[in-house]
Amino acid sequence: MKAIRVHQPGGPEVLKVEDVPDPKPRDGEVLVRIHAVGVNPVETYVRSGKYPIMPQFPYTPGSDAAGLVEAIGAGVSSMGVGDRVYVGGTKTGAYAELAVCAESQVHPLPPQISFEQGAAVNIPCATAYRALFQRARALPGEFVLIHGASGGVGIAATQIARAAGLSVIGTAGSEKGRKLVLEQGAHEVLDHGTPDYLERALAITKGRGVDVILEMLANVNLGKDLTVLARGGRVVVIGSRGTVEINPRDTMSRDAAILGMVLFNASPQELSSIHAALVAGLQNGTLRPVVGQRLPLSDAARAHTAVMEPGAFGKIVLIP
Ligand code: NAP
Repeated sequence: MKAIRVHQPGGPEVLKVEDVPDPKPRDGEVLVRIHAVGVNPVETYVRSGKYPIMPQFPYTPGSDAAGLVEAIGAGVSSMGVGDRVYVGGTKTGAYAELAVCAESQVHPLPPQISFEQGAAVNIPCATAYRALFQRARALPGEFVLIHGASGGVGIAATQIARAAGLSVIGTAGSEKGRKLVLEQGAHEVLDHGTPDYLERALAITKGRGVDVILEMLANVNLGKDLTVLARGGRVVVIGSRGTVEINPRDTMSRDAAILGMVLFNASPQELSSIHAALVAGLQNGTLRPVVGQRLPLSDAARAHTAVMEPGAFGKIVLIP
């Protein structure tokens, strides 16, 4: 089969298409024929060698994909050959024509969700769900500011929060992105490129402040986020690409909390609960992943460049 292989850390050019032997499922494993692969920023950090958890080289990147079950190992009972599935993690890497997964990493893909959309489910939607409900414990009726709502995680968070009865304020840097965020269910959208947009967020809450902030770029925004929180407010740090100065008094005066998160820290029980919620959302139409760009698997390097550029518009997927 064809797979993207990385032999040493470096820029996007280290992503090479190679012929490798087809992987085989062992007991308790599932072989998936991949029809679409989701590209996430974390795969660029790992590729460049700047991530705390590193695979052994050479490796095949990726954890998110969708396709058809090609074969099952002994003891697999929750699915059969030919089933439509999305995967949340693999054992052999998702940037490939085939991937071996543990049975617990494979989830049903409802018929109305395309493989490309299925490839956009795992990291983006699971992160959004965990941030909202397992970290911030967001409640219906609360205000959530999705700070970076136009990308993979932000679109998922917008849809999930809206369906759960929160008042959703999203931000995006481009006109196209802001239109998308409104279409996906945000009650209000703001431009994080303008100087006064957080004052406008405060005004939308009639000066009370937002209850929850999902933060995609904490190194830029965390200090100001704390000044627009309501009493008891929570900021979930989902993304950060550097350091930032904050005034701790802004948390004291509001009894506010800054909550870090990395999806990899979710326990097996938490992941199982997250995916049960995501599958339900896909089935009932409240979760509708948005794919903004499709590229062939051989263009993985271009996808890694694109995922780090401004002007996000949903998800970038690779087609093997
Ligand atoms: P993405 O699809 O590339 O989207 C990036 C988002 O950040 C876009 O909405 C972008 O908006 C926005 N952004 C750009 N400048 C911003 C600013 N000044 N303030 C607020 N938002 C800004 O990436 P993603 O997959 O959604 O991931 C978002 C971040 O979360 C990345 O840093 C990623 O590494 C991280 N992440 C963390 C976890 C975790 O477990 N902690 C999981 C998944 C992702 P415009 O392009 O419209 O300006």
